[in-house]
Amino acid sequence: MANAPVQRMSQLMAKTLRDDPADAEVLSHKLLVRAGYVRRTAAGIWTWLPLGKKVLANVERIVREEMDAIGAQEVLLPALLPREPYDATGRWDEYGAELFRLQDRKGGDYLLGPTHEEIFTLMVKDQASSYKDLPVILYQIQTKFRDEARPRAGILRGREFLMKDSYSFDLDDDGLAQSYALHREAYRRIFERLGLDYRICAATAGAMGGSKSEEFLAPAEAGEDTFADCPNCDFAANTEAVSYELKPVDAAGVPAAEDIPTPDTPTIETLAAQLGVPASATLKNLLVKVDGEIVAVGVPGDREVDLDKVEAHFAPAQVEMVTEADFIARPDLVRGYVGPQGLDKVTYIADPRVAPGTAWITGANKADTHAKNVVAGRDFEVDAYVDVVVVEEGDPCPRCGTGLKLDRAIEIGHIFQLGRKYADALKLDVLGQNGKPVRVTMGSYGVGVSRAVAALAEQTADDKGLCWPEEVAPADVHVVAAGKALQTELALEVSEKLAAAGVRVLVDDRAGVSPGVKFTDSELIGVPRILVAGRRSADRVLELKDRRTGEREELTVDEAVARLT
Ligand code: ATP
Ligand code: MG
Ligand code: MG
Ligand code: MG
Repeated sequence: MANAPVQRMSQLMAKTLRDDPADAEVLSHKLLVRAGYVRRTAAGIWTWLPLGKKVLANVERIVREEMDAIGAQEVLLPALLPREPYDATGRWDEYGAELFRLQDRKGGDYLLGPTHEEIFTLMVKDQASSYKDLPVILYQIQTKFRDEARPRAGILRGREFLMKDSYSFDLDDDGLAQSYALHREAYRRIFERLGLDYRICAATAGAMGGSKSEEFLAPAEAGEDTFADCPNCDFAANTEAVSYELKPVDAAGVPAAEDIPTPDTPTIETLAAQLGVPASATLKNLLVKVDGEIVAVGVPGDREVDLDKVEAHFAPAQVEMVTEADFIARPDLVRGYVGPQGLDKVTYIADPRVAPGTAWITGANKADTHAKNVVAGRDFEVDAYVDVVVVEEGDPCPRCGTGLKLDRAIEIGHIFQLGRKYADALKLDVLGQNGKPVRVTMGSYGVGVSRAVAALAEQTADDKGLCWPEEVAPADVHVVAAGKALQTELALEVSEKLAAAGVRVLVDDRAGVSPGVKFTDSELIGVPRILVAGRRSADRVLELKDRRTGEREELTVDEAVARLT
């Protein structure tokens, strides 16, 4: 491969900023914007500038290498997709408000792919005809679209984002288990090479026994997931996974004895799917109804529900409206509190069985408001019941009994044994060895490629700025010309030598920028090593600084080149 040319900051499309962007809530958002890696184009929609694009490409390369290493084949499917396959699996409706739907000039329905199970299934149906064609693992690294309810965490949660998604196709359960295991190992290598601290967490309740789905979570303050971690054994689970029990209810709101298997992601939509509720009726059937009209319960706060109807329906003497804080402060009435997990998730659910006459309507249907003293069955109809068991710090580990720790984390990857759901919906069979058709079993696996960039920024940054691990850094060394013509000349000379030796160099050759500003910028930008042509340039002596430790040493030009190659 040809050596990369020296990147000169005097010409680079990247402007560093002194101040945090006003709308930034998380560290990675602040730093990636300030250091000139990304710019916001619209809510949840991002432009990658040259330095950012380099980091993104490095993450992509590592993901690609590790996917290729397990024998996966890279393809590229369209992002603009026809409606029909998504009708066949029910997801056109089930996906809810997160799906970007659009029409072409003839009025035909299309969507922007949020994930591609349907299209991969159809591709294999088209290409594979016999058991000899399987197993196969296919992947792509592609832009995905999801109209996230609250894209407020910068690159961590885009409405347009880069994902590696792969899909495995096997003849039987053993084959699927093997494809899953291959992915699990590939993901471990990917996240290790990226330099991310991560845990593998059970992502479904079933996972406490045998696991069908696991998430790779990167602990970080900015994370939108909470996971329970055992300090004693290797048990770790997303609290979403350990906290849900889902039951159908009768007209009086009494839950059935039997649980429904816990869904992978307990969104309103997946809960409805588990309950066998028609997709179009998703919301209605999970909500509490008053006089046949939707009012509340388990409804995310941004859904359209009419609190005035609730107030009008109940005698004011009986029903009290209370604030969010009061609501949460009453654990005797509120069996569960889950969150904050984003508005696409079920947020709060009370148990209508607790203290008859004091059940609460718990949908956050008006900001900060809940209704008290209403009775399930008498005052409202309940179509489904969700029991949420809160996992708290110190609760016993289901494996060894040790007190669990709760931490925040970013979901960076997700592996999932799908089974035959999509193959059934789209009739994916191949001819088996005995000449009879065999229904194919599938897995689906995702890595948040763009999210990994932000997760890395979150985990590695310090008070001076970004601080990239070597494999993903936008350059190997940041050469700083700290002075006048002499320093610039030396900086460019050593940069050229390093580049010729295969080192990726970013050089700050900007004229009229003070050494102080250049040092601050180099720390903000976060290349692992900083090489300064400063005071001793006349002696051809440079200073090499380790960005993370701050350790410095003086080296001649030749020594520096030898050290860095
Ligand atoms: P989340 O719980 O954060 O919404 P998800 O469970 O909906 O994520 P998956 O459908 O499992 O996401 O997609 C696979 C991977 O894609 C996730 O593990 C995550 O790393 C990444 N990802 C999902 N949504 C986004 C997003 N809006 N922006 C950036 N990356 C995302
Ligand atoms: Mg999501
Ligand atoms: Mg998730
Ligand atoms: Mg997921």
